[in-house]
Amino acid sequence: MKTAKDISKMQAALLSWYDSEGRTLPWRIRPEDRAAGVTPDPYAVWLSEIMLQQTTVPHATPYWEKFLTEFPTVTNLANAERDRILTLWAGLGYYARGRNLHKCAQIIRDEHGGAFPKTEAQLLKLPGVGPYTAATMAAICFDEATNIVDGNVERVVSRIFRAEIPLPKGKTELRDFAGTLASPKRPGDYGQALMDLGATICSPRSPKCGDCPWQGFCLAHKDSVETDYPKKIKKAKLPIRYGNIYVLKSGGSVLMHQRPDKGLLGGMLGFPGTDWGDTPPAALEGAPSPRNWEKCEDKVRHVFTHFELYLDVYRSETSDQKIEGIWAALDNIADYALPTVMKKALKIAAS
Ligand code: SF4
Repeated sequence: MKTAKDISKMQAALLSWYDSEGRTLPWRIRPEDRAAGVTPDPYAVWLSEIMLQQTTVPHATPYWEKFLTEFPTVTNLANAERDRILTLWAGLGYYARGRNLHKCAQIIRDEHGGAFPKTEAQLLKLPGVGPYTAATMAAICFDEATNIVDGNVERVVSRIFRAEIPLPKGKTELRDFAGTLASPKRPGDYGQALMDLGATICSPRSPKCGDCPWQGFCLAHKDSVETDYPKKIKKAKLPIRYGNIYVLKSGGSVLMHQRPDKGLLGGMLGFPGTDWGDTPPAALEGAPSPRNWEKCEDKVRHVFTHFELYLDVYRSETSDQKIEGIWAALDNIADYALPTVMKKALKIAAS
């Protein structure tokens, strides 16, 4: 535990570091602008936070820009066709987030008069908004003194306190430790500063302790054991699943199906194929009507959060476009909501 005096010094040191070293991000209001009265747009912050779940800043930024250009307000987003949203989302992964984005925008339009609610408790009730996003939005947009904890913050705090309970069990303890440090002064800047510290200084493998505003308070640094934290229970190997996928072309088009709303990649487009199971399916199992399928040499390998997937890719051509499904023009394939795993299959079939 830290004394009240230490905590106050840590808060001041972190805020002062953030004032000069904090990242400039397109959705962020810099401290000097905040001090001059500029306030964050909750819609822009919300979009960034949803996109940044499981995605890096460089990967998410062009998506954020595209969404804001096409849907400048949350009401514009609510009024959009869901398929258009999923198309713009394609490539960001975790497609439930794209679907929840639309649902959430509609609730903001219909139940909150087009404006985001202003407290962590109310934000938490919105679809797709978990404890981290609610705490972050409440702090950044509405200056509520919340306790923001993401993976970066967990790492910093585990090192500061030398927290010994391994993750994931130790999450509660890390949250409590982070709560003891949370600043009631400039809560939005403090939360962003702590996330920046984890993202830019206190990195997993080579923390730059010499540049860290908290080095004088860090127990792991004191004993040069920084990278021993956070303690983690060793992850079991991911299970492997297998399937077949069929890429059928006709002229300049390719046959696709819309996946059911429920389940992985729900609502997204995909090529026909088998279910994904624990054992490889038989050759041509589930292939659309018999034709000259050629098995491609390469397989799709794709890692999801809970399993690793291997797909055998088959390709064929037909002149019969009456086969049921969506015939998508290959020249405009970027306009379709095609998840990364399907893009990989298409690339293999084209090679
Ligand atoms: S001193 Fe090093 S290990 Fe400790 S919080 Fe700072 S960067 Fe991380």
